[in-house]
Amino acid sequence: MIIAANWKMNPPLDVAGSLATAFNSVSLQPVKRILFAPHPYLTTISARLGRGEVQLGGQDCHQDAAGAHTGDVSAGMLRDCGASIVLLGHSERRANHGETSALVAAKARQALAHGLDVMICLGETEDERQAGQAEQIVIDQLRVSVPGDMSQDRLMIAYEPVWAIGTGEVASLDDIATMHNAIASELPKTHSGKVAQPVPILYGGSVNAQNAADILALDNVDGGLVGGASLDAEAFASICYSARAQLSKS
Ligand code: PEP
Repeated sequence: MIIAANWKMNPPLDVAGSLATAFNSVSLQPVKRILFAPHPYLTTISARLGRGEVQLGGQDCHQDAAGAHTGDVSAGMLRDCGASIVLLGHSERRANHGETSALVAAKARQALAHGLDVMICLGETEDERQAGQAEQIVIDQLRVSVPGDMSQDRLMIAYEPVWAIGTGEVASLDDIATMHNAIASELPKTHSGKVAQPVPILYGGSVNAQNAADILALDNVDGGLVGGASLDAEAFASICYSARAQLSKS
């Protein structure tokens, strides 16, 4: 079970520091926690987290190792600032920065070359779901976004229906289960990399303290990627407790 916090472009630094301290002050093993923090805060948050249980990640990296890319951040820089994982292909980057699945794969290669783990986001828009294309869109994104030869023990997938992100509208349990099963059965076909362990598949999209337990109980749901609720230490901890309770049942 993995519960990942995506803070996006939030909160101010003083609040971020207090939240990180709150995350760090409780042990939730064997649940694995990840915090995708804003890039300018990584060094500060890394110091706060120390050698605790929370893994620190960046929210994007450039596909090149270095160069004339004003405003961009390289995988090596993330590593230097204390990150050991990077979130790639979030729908907000796909929509707002025109990121394609091919670009996501190039970024993933760069991240891997710098020793970072990679969480790749996939998800359909509302129009695509209404048109009955959700599964095809997500599987196409999966096939192109994940480098075919990458080691599976460095990879995580987050399925995040675009229309469920930040809207309070959660996908139905049936729809989540269907998509996670489709991703799980497609991964071995698209992927020739070393198979050390199954790739974790997280659900994201308006996960909160109230709905987490039902979502995390589904087959092939190995955790959650949490945006809004991760800005509240108590709500985030409550989601993690649901994950831990689920683990103790299985
Ligand atoms: C996200 O940002 O990845 C996300 C799932 O956000 P929220 O939980 O707010 O829907």
